[in-house]
Amino acid sequence: MTNVNHIILQYKAHLFDLFKVKGQKQITNQWMDMISELIQVEGCSFYFFGGENFELYRDINLKDAPSSITQQQLQSFLEPGEKWTYDENKGPFHMVFLFETKEKNPLILVGFTLPEKNGLSQEVAGELHRLTEKFINQWITSTGVIDEGNRYQELFKVTEIFHSNRDVNKLLAQVIGTLFRVFPDYTFSVLLSNDNYEHGDLPIKNFDFERANEASMKAFVSGSIEVDKCLDTRDILLYAPLKGKQGIYGVLEVNTNNPSSSYENQLEFIRLLAYTAGSALENAKLYEQSRRLITDLQLINETSHKLNLNLRMSETLVFLKNQIKRSFQASSIGFVFKQENQFAILDESSSFFKLEEARDIIDYVEERIQQEKDSIFIGDLSSKLTEPNYLSLMAIPMIQHNELIGFCIVAHEEPYMFTFDMYKLLQSFIHHSTLAITNAMLREKLEKLVITDHMTQLYARNYLDDEMDKSMQQDQSGVFIILDIDNFKSVNDTYGHQVGDEVIIQVSNLMKKIVGDKGFVARWGGEELAAYFPELALEEGIHIANEMVRLSPTSTSPMVTISCGVSAWNRMESFDNESVNTLVQRADKALYAAKNTGKNKVSIQNNINS
Ligand code: GH3
Ligand code: MG
Ligand code: MG
Repeated sequence: MTNVNHIILQYKAHLFDLFKVKGQKQITNQWMDMISELIQVEGCSFYFFGGENFELYRDINLKDAPSSITQQQLQSFLEPGEKWTYDENKGPFHMVFLFETKEKNPLILVGFTLPEKNGLSQEVAGELHRLTEKFINQWITSTGVIDEGNRYQELFKVTEIFHSNRDVNKLLAQVIGTLFRVFPDYTFSVLLSNDNYEHGDLPIKNFDFERANEASMKAFVSGSIEVDKCLDTRDILLYAPLKGKQGIYGVLEVNTNNPSSSYENQLEFIRLLAYTAGSALENAKLYEQSRRLITDLQLINETSHKLNLNLRMSETLVFLKNQIKRSFQASSIGFVFKQENQFAILDESSSFFKLEEARDIIDYVEERIQQEKDSIFIGDLSSKLTEPNYLSLMAIPMIQHNELIGFCIVAHEEPYMFTFDMYKLLQSFIHHSTLAITNAMLREKLEKLVITDHMTQLYARNYLDDEMDKSMQQDQSGVFIILDIDNFKSVNDTYGHQVGDEVIIQVSNLMKKIVGDKGFVARWGGEELAAYFPELALEEGIHIANEMVRLSPTSTSPMVTISCGVSAWNRMESFDNESVNTLVQRADKALYAAKNTGKNKVSIQNNINS
């Protein structure tokens, strides 16, 4: 076999291997390495036709290869119509190859410098050129078809994945992953408008309307694919809109990074992928939105339910405060109510609102709400007040029968922390709660006026208060018992409030029976009862309390135990400053001790000298 044949055979085998390589850049680079080694070149440079001139793509061992060769300059290497030359005595290239497409469009220019004894001949040079051009043309046609097929298969695959994926980040990772697989030579970025996500390492940027270039802006606004040819870097940038049915969510930026690539064929694929991604993104966003809506509805539902339970005013406000804190990530929440024609901050408010520093904000809100009778939504309060402690603010009036009864303030230190959706939700939230709050307020006012408790038919607390006061003025001694049902919350939680009420009634009846006409029994509040016995010895009081504790489990269903605190006074032996208040306080303390030492027992706090 001649040397010529040997080189050509080897070259054919190598070309054949190149068919397996993916990506235009990889093929180009491998081909350059391969041929340089095979014919042992000293140097070589490789040019792509960029529309007008041949632009340098890569050179091997050639320091002063021209970076660009015009069609005119080409004539110093090749005669018109000639596609290759081989001349050992000519510089800078001894061998020049021009490759064209079948349609005679210039494609690639390669110049080789060869060592003195290189073993090539006109024959070999011509054959190398012929084989290479054939290879290039075959590669273009076949990869065109193969790539097209592979790409659409990829698209089909990802479309399925996209539409089953509700996680925006995973979705974008898949879009980008697919692009890298299909176009390994290109680089990609996703520019998202209105982006609130954390994306980690993904090439995702915020679509910056201020700084966006014309092409990306045009793609975003018009929804069509746009091309931007960058003259400096010779990059070609494609912008494909991420479009759904309801809007455009951003653009996909593709840097083809390679002036000769036939990106036109790929436009349609990129457009389709961007469209698929756009509608998948839209789905994911809609899904998130509906999930948020569901949590909002749950909040309203849970709140309405709780408010229907006729809680005490204080319990209602604490519940509302916690719900607001949780749902709106608020820092401070204030409740302001009209009391005897003046607005006053309630104790249940966050601690900030009870400070003097809060005066500015409260006064500002109060004035505006009184004037406008409307809600307030402010993103940055520093435009209204000097150095306010909070910058984000929402305030909602509580209006009952056309009368302003109070308002709720929700605040956060950072500006623009609340969205308009949150504001709307808070409005409906407060609206729903206003009735419950006024009911609780009225009920508590009414409680002060009546002398019997409706539910238990025991005396009301005020009545007992008055009786004790009278007794302490006219009698010689007395005993006070306060009683609290143990773990009553779990009765409510397990069986519901109605059953809870039943249990309170059962304990009340038991107490009435045991006390008889020895004293007065009252509902002290909630599930606490109290009894006062004028002129009773402490021992007898303790006995009665013990009977209560002993009989409670067998008199209730579901079974509950109780704890009692007992206190007593005696005109001869007690300290001078004895009053209803001190008597109650001591019983309370005793009850607290009973609760803290295991419950289901009686505890006594005495103040009698002996
Ligand atoms: P402890 O043993 O420490 O007393 O535990 P507890 O679960 O009983 O706790 P606590 O006394 O603090 O709570 C009493 C609960 O009773 C709180 C409140 O929701 C409920 N409650 C208050 N009044 C009523 C009422 O009239 N009816 C019903 N069903 N529940 C009430
Ligand atoms: Mg209690
Ligand atoms: Mg209790």
